[in-house]
Amino acid sequence: MNKIAQIFQSLEYGPAPELPDQANAWLDSHGRKFGHFIDGKWTKPGKTFASENPANGEKLADITEGTAEDVNAAVKAARAAFKPWSALSGYERGKYLYAIARAIQKHSRLFAVLETMDNGKPIRESRDVDIPLVARHFYHHAGWAQHLSREFPDAVPYGVCGQIIPWNFPLLMLAWKIAPALAAGNTVILKPAEFTSLTALLFAEICDRAGLPKGVVNIVTGQGETGQAIVSHEGIDKIAFTGSTEVGKAIRAATAGTGKGLSLELGGKSPYIVFEDADIDSAIEGLVDAIWFNQGQVCCAGSRLLVQESIETRFIAKLKTRMASLRVGDPLDKSIDIGALVAPVQVERIRDLMKRGVAEGALVYEADGPVPANGCFLKPALVTNVSPANTLVAEEIFGPVLVAMSFRTPEEAVALANNTKYGLAATIWSENINLALDIAPKIKAGVVWINGTNNFDAAVGFGGYKESGFGREGGREGMSAYLKPAWEKELKLAPAAKAAPAKAENPLDSGHLDQTAKMYIGGKQSRPDSAYNRPVLDPKGQTIGEVGEGNRKDVRNAVEAARAALGWSTTAAHTRAQILYFLAENLDYRRDEFAARIKAQTGEDGTAEVALSVERLFAFAGWADKYDGAVHNPPLRAVAAAMVEPLGVMGIVAPPSRPLLGSIALIAPALAMGNTVVLVPSSQSPLSITDLYQVIETSDVPNGVVNIVTGDSVSLAKTLAEHDGVDAMWFAGSAEASAMVEKASITNLKQTWTSRGLYYDLADRRFEGDYFLSKATQVKNVWIPYGA
Ligand code: NAD
Repeated sequence: MNKIAQIFQSLEYGPAPELPDQANAWLDSHGRKFGHFIDGKWTKPGKTFASENPANGEKLADITEGTAEDVNAAVKAARAAFKPWSALSGYERGKYLYAIARAIQKHSRLFAVLETMDNGKPIRESRDVDIPLVARHFYHHAGWAQHLSREFPDAVPYGVCGQIIPWNFPLLMLAWKIAPALAAGNTVILKPAEFTSLTALLFAEICDRAGLPKGVVNIVTGQGETGQAIVSHEGIDKIAFTGSTEVGKAIRAATAGTGKGLSLELGGKSPYIVFEDADIDSAIEGLVDAIWFNQGQVCCAGSRLLVQESIETRFIAKLKTRMASLRVGDPLDKSIDIGALVAPVQVERIRDLMKRGVAEGALVYEADGPVPANGCFLKPALVTNVSPANTLVAEEIFGPVLVAMSFRTPEEAVALANNTKYGLAATIWSENINLALDIAPKIKAGVVWINGTNNFDAAVGFGGYKESGFGREGGREGMSAYLKPAWEKELKLAPAAKAAPAKAENPLDSGHLDQTAKMYIGGKQSRPDSAYNRPVLDPKGQTIGEVGEGNRKDVRNAVEAARAALGWSTTAAHTRAQILYFLAENLDYRRDEFAARIKAQTGEDGTAEVALSVERLFAFAGWADKYDGAVHNPPLRAVAAAMVEPLGVMGIVAPPSRPLLGSIALIAPALAMGNTVVLVPSSQSPLSITDLYQVIETSDVPNGVVNIVTGDSVSLAKTLAEHDGVDAMWFAGSAEASAMVEKASITNLKQTWTSRGLYYDLADRRFEGDYFLSKATQVKNVWIPYGA
């Protein structure tokens, strides 16, 4: 048989290599040695490390290890550039972004080849996915720059942003960070990952050639220490990080109390759910994309297959057949499916995890097929016979390893899907759109793909729930992550809290036993676990009542009650609105009594504060069914429904001042959006809130939706911030205690809002709208394909 006839018989692909010449020529033009790009110039290379091609181990270039002085120089340049850059009109800034987008398109093949050489990903992916999406991001954000003042009228840029990115999508992660930052008027210092700095350096040259003003984009290369120098630099106003959850937590702790803006895009262990009525062949193709795209080194990889038991055997058999046809090899070959992993250390890490999983009982299947002898290659693997506790099910592997489990009912699928500390993405396959759309909101993840996977677009936000981080990249949410309210800089320090009243020397002297307010937990009044009370004093130091001294146990009970009440989050927005209106109405009936109570505690007339509290409840009742999502039209045959969802259980610690409004202004937006709350009212003047129990009870608020624990704000805040059952934390109090709350929040990476010792005048109408609504919610994008 001649060769052509043989190929017809076997249908084998021949080699189709992409030439590396142009990329090599670019590297040569820099002498294969790079300094940083700071203030529009290349610095002289310092101490360097090698960047290697993981497909063959060849050294590509020497990269400079960024020092603290390098970071300093970059911050100086970015600071100097900030004023003129942010003062440009949006149109002018947009034109630069447009010029960058055009230049990336023009040199897209060079970028793609260089990316593949540096990272090991198949050229098919860098050419057809990464680089086109990079260009799309700059185009999209050119438009945001121009429309910024209309769409975000009261917002200003942060200033200088430090951006740290991983190696799995080197240029794409750069685009996700730099495009919105620049559109908003920030200047940036970006550190690429140590394994993959080259396309960021090529990008620097593109910026230079596009005439971007010097200092607007600075690229500082290096490893973890360089990243740390960026995170801890006092001249940086916002940190945007994409990488592992472990480093994300370290960055959250390092930035606690600094007032720096922070967004974290972290790891994942995303479920890929296949129901028995799915189009199985499509689901298999989707799965190939979900777990073997980029060798599985994808934060949102569908790495946990959950397949309905009735089709499990058939599905797994088909999957194995499909795995046998995946081609592993030279990533510069255009007909390769799976390229090289990023570095030998990554291959070792995956092998170690696999060994642990196997020791715990996992069975590993790898299809036969050739794999290059040298370079960082691994065969695609399918892992079965695992329990939810198996290392391979629980840990992010970040490699070409799929773990399969089965489920019987939709409820079980949801429970398994959510049985992870992560919450980045999920995929649902079913031909029954009702079922798919029933499941999507139940999955705790920032992105849900229905009958598809790995859809991305610049107009659609991307980001995680839970320990996958917070903040979004892309679309309106992504823009707002680079903006802050203009009025924030006018905030003054809050007046020092009055010294805590001295306790009566003899606890028996306090009298007023009839006035001891209890806690309010799960819809019931309950005695404090400590069995101690604290006196509440009037401004003259006279005891006017007592409240319970809440402790760790009371907080635990309250969190448990709040978790049990999470059905509130799926209660119709209309119903939540009615209940908040009712609460307002019932408070209004008793306005004189509440005003008198404020006067008794503070000495000030409480009439206006009660009226404002009623008005604030009305305001958020009004928002409950209006602060909602959007439908995006990405350039695919799909719509993406951006759904606004509550965070879950919120710990809210009210400020010392304004005993009633201070709490109402914070719990009203949280409740309106479907969160349940553990509230710690003002330590000094808690009686306005303990009086509220009866109002709550008569207003049809379901038990456990609002729980109230009285006592020392700071120690209760610490317990709440450390509690894994609390999803978000708002704290109004001193700078020191705010730092403590932010640091303690790393246990499960809660979203936090703290007042940092500043005076937020909660009576101001600016707090009647999206300022707190946006902080009480997170956006989930549900991608729904169409086409007959
Ligand atoms: P990594 O956390 O080890 O490193 C990420 C970046 O942080 C690198 O540039 C690194 O040099 C730097 N760094 C390391 N230690 C640091 C420190 N202490 N302070 C500051 N910077 C530090 O992650 P990685 O191995 O490069 O990337 C893989 C991880 O990234 C995975 O967990 C993956 O899920 C995640 N990821 C998330 C997204 C997302 O959008 N959510 C996207 C891509 C990757």
